[in-house]
Formats: sequence, structure tokens, C-alpha cells
Amino acid sequence: MARYIGPVCRQCRREGMKLYLKGERCHSEKCAIERRNFIPGQHGKDRAKKIVGYGLQLREKQKVRRVYGVLERQFRSTFEKAALAKGITGENLMSALERRLDSVIYRMGFGTSRAQSRQIVRHGHIDVNGRKCDIPSAQVKIGDVVSVRQTSKNNPTILAARDATAHAPAPNWIDVDREGLTGRVTALPQRSELVQIQLNEQLIVELYSK
Ligand code: SF4
Repeated sequence: MARYIGPVCRQCRREGMKLYLKGERCHSEKCAIERRNFIPGQHGKDRAKKIVGYGLQLREKQKVRRVYGVLERQFRSTFEKAALAKGITGENLMSALERRLDSVIYRMGFGTSRAQSRQIVRHGHIDVNGRKCDIPSAQVKIGDVVSVRQTSKNNPTILAARDATAHAPAPNWIDVDREGLTGRVTALPQRSELVQIQLNEQLIVELYSK
């Protein structure tokens, strides 16, 4: 599946907030939001227009897509599955995004960003239930064991990421063994413990329900 390969910090600047797309850099003074917190482009410094209605819904959708690194078509299909599932559509959507394999690797602290975690998955460093899985969008479910493959346990990128994220709390829904580079999914992620930033997924439901 395709992915966005353009400038990343520009996405945060467009949304006017940190989306934490670049790992450690996001916590440093080099962060573009710290230095240039205005909309990119020729008119970026003009007086901000008030965003209402459709604009608000669109920005919210773009924000979530960017946080999880998902392009429009795949995002839309994730939404449609979430709408068909039992429960609240917005919460189903967020849960499905959070349970993507690349996001799970990020949550376990084996990648410093979702983008890096995606690459770790694509490069074949991850097993799910003892079998190699190199599909970043694969959904994990309760009981799944997600681990770094035996042959990749000494991978310097993964070890460096684990050390760099040592301060980050492990998610409540994954039982993580950081030393063993493995984890078991013990529950479904709850809405309250998902992304670090303020999101209102209900606006996305409204956008797609038109
Ligand atoms: Fe760039 Fe990270 Fe700052 Fe976003 S939060 S602007 S990705 S450094």
C-alpha cells in the first residue's frame, strides 16, 4: 500500500499542532512547530481564517490520517468497516487504527515513530503469533503475540528505539516485555488511552455520513 513520502513537519504545521510524526525530533527544539508555527505556503503568515463546518470536519480527518500515516482510500475503507461493526463508529475507527501492526510496534516502543515502525514491519523484522508478518496495516486482536523476530533481536534500529522510548509508559492493553522485545495484546484499546493529541473523531463520522 502506498504511503505519503513528502515533507512531514509540514503536515503538523498545516494542522497547527504537533502530530508527533518524527520520533525524538518532535520532543526537541528542532520541532518545526516550535520554530515556525504557521501554515506552510505563501499565505501561511496571513491572518488565520476562521474554520467552521465542513472545514473543521476535513481538518479533523486529515489530522487522524496523518497521525496514523494512512492515505485516503485505505482510511475510507477502515471507516466503512468501523461503521458496519457494532458499537460507536468513531471509537471503532480509532480502535482499528490503533490496532494496525505498525501502530502496535510504535506503542510497544520498538520504533520511535509510526513511520519508523512501519518500515520495521515492512522490512520483515516482526512476527505475529510466531509467523512473519510484513503488512503494516494488519490488525492485531486480543491474544496475539507480537514480537521482534529472532534474527532481528540485535537490530540496532530497534534496540536504539527501545532505549529512546524507555521513558514512555506501556499501553494498558498490551503486556510488553521490553527486554524480550515481545508483547501480548490483552484487551482492545480504550478511546481514552489512544493518541497523545486532542482529536474529535465524531467530526470524521459527520464528514463521511453526508
Ligand atoms: Fe516535525 Fe515532529 Fe514537530 Fe511535527 S511534532 S513538526 S513531525 S518535529
